Amino acid sequence: MNASRWKFLLAFLLATLVLPAQSWATGYTQTKYPIVLVHGLFGFDNIGPVEYFYNIPAALRSGGAQVYVSQVSAANSTEVRGEQLLVEIQQILAATGATKVNLIGHSHGGPTARYVASIRPDLVASVSTVGGVNKGSPVADMLLGIAPAGSLSRTVLGSITTGLAELISFLSGAPTLPQNAIAAATSLSTAGTLKFNAAHPQGVPTTACGQGASQVSGVYYFSWSGTQPATNIFDITDPFLVLTSLAFAGASNDGLVGSCSSHLGTVIRDNYGMNHLDEVNQTIGLVNIFETSPVTVFRQQANRLQGLGL
Ligand code: CA
Repeated sequence: MNASRWKFLLAFLLATLVLPAQSWATGYTQTKYPIVLVHGLFGFDNIGPVEYFYNIPAALRSGGAQVYVSQVSAANSTEVRGEQLLVEIQQILAATGATKVNLIGHSHGGPTARYVASIRPDLVASVSTVGGVNKGSPVADMLLGIAPAGSLSRTVLGSITTGLAELISFLSGAPTLPQNAIAAATSLSTAGTLKFNAAHPQGVPTTACGQGASQVSGVYYFSWSGTQPATNIFDITDPFLVLTSLAFAGASNDGLVGSCSSHLGTVIRDNYGMNHLDEVNQTIGLVNIFETSPVTVFRQQANRLQGLGL
């Protein structure tokens, strides 16, 4: 290990030791309505001890929030995932007696949450998307372009990625959820999101990179995202995100979603020093030590919702 790596390791260890000392006011994350976290493509609630929203549910609960982690199909269309999420929300409402939920969706979890807010706004207090694929991802476009409909490569790609989704689903204890990776990629493509947005326009900016309406049909809309594909030399997923970031031809992105595509409702920030996985504190907490912790950003959002009486 060279000197700069040692320096980085030292800084990392110091940050690990110092950050937990941060104190929070009692009830800082105590929202009126339960918070439901919605995972993205190839996501899960937890596999063994590893959570998709790594350490985030506990951090939100410690400040008083009621937190639920949804599990929808790891790979499927936004509509299929959205219908599954709606069922889960109805179960949460029945169990808690709450009348609404606050939805926070990462990646494909963003449009998934938006789907429910669009068809059942009466059940949703707010939708916050984190690295949300609100206006498509060129990575999905490229994938579908490399493997056009009807081709052998499309069949192979579909089988491999659907198989991966089935494996994730099996490992996370939900082997019966239907998986369809090509449907997922189609939903995440630029053309797919355009079609989705026409049917479910709530909170989507009408300009290329502006903000959207902060409130539609009584539902508040927020978004945040990162724009740094590589942030931590110890995270083995960083090189992968650097590679996929090339699909953006220079536009700001987090490795999988463009800064402008992530915009929804009130844009809290679209340029955190985070990549797509850092946004949910992955891989297992290996994030940018020079940026606000993603866990803190989630806590701040809960506090913001609390301030709005949500
Ligand atoms: Ca990371």
